[in-house]
Amino acid sequence: MARLPVVGGNWKMHTARGEAVALLSALRRELDGLAGAQVVICPPAPWLGDAADALAGTTLEVGAQDVHWEPKGAFTGAVSAPMLASVASWVIVGHSERRYLFGETAEETNAKLRASLAAGLSPILAVGERQEEIGRVADVLAAQLTEGFRGIERLPADVVIAYEPVWAIGTGLAATPDDAQARCALIRTMLAERFNTASADACRIQYGGSVITGNIEDYAKQPDIDGALVGGASLDAAAFATICRAVAAA
Ligand code: PEP
Repeated sequence: MARLPVVGGNWKMHTARGEAVALLSALRRELDGLAGAQVVICPPAPWLGDAADALAGTTLEVGAQDVHWEPKGAFTGAVSAPMLASVASWVIVGHSERRYLFGETAEETNAKLRASLAAGLSPILAVGERQEEIGRVADVLAAQLTEGFRGIERLPADVVIAYEPVWAIGTGLAATPDDAQARCALIRTMLAERFNTASADACRIQYGGSVITGNIEDYAKQPDIDGALVGGASLDAAAFATICRAVAAA
């Protein structure tokens, strides 16, 4: 089944405002109109409005890096899904930095996923094992998918899964393309068991973890890998554009 790959650029907590604006206009120049892949730019929350303005009318889409599960209320510092929906169409949910640096629980990830869907945002659900969990990666992925999708009857077409082994994020130690393919195929099998074969076959599954210009082609050609979630390399417009073009061409 042909799936349109998705490449996400997760800027994390990087860029001053001027840098963000310059990066957005370089990305617009490089990537507007790219066919064969969807491109989602996820800047820090304060620059989401700038991103929405800079990318309006282009094929590039805007994503947030996190979301709160409540629609509004006394949650100082938090941003809700309905708020994000006015400046973004995507949101990353369950990134390992949220899970392990900020103590996000499985229940919270699930609540964020549901809130995002309710607000019309397309979630990128990040899953992946830590170094010490490599020997039981199937159990870890099964638990994260089960908990992430708790209470969700059908797999929505606009959910993307990002398989991101935590040990590969920001380390330069990318998973081998064969291992990444095997994990993404395993995730697809789990989705088929949890939902059904048709929706699992249609679901886009990205690989993330030290993706760079020099390795993207090896991931992009794998049959169960439908794009990438890119951290560090997404801060360089030329590198990120090369990655997006490689995915689109695969
Ligand atoms: C990420 O933050 O999701 C990520 C994959 O980062 P990096 O590409 O820097 O490893």
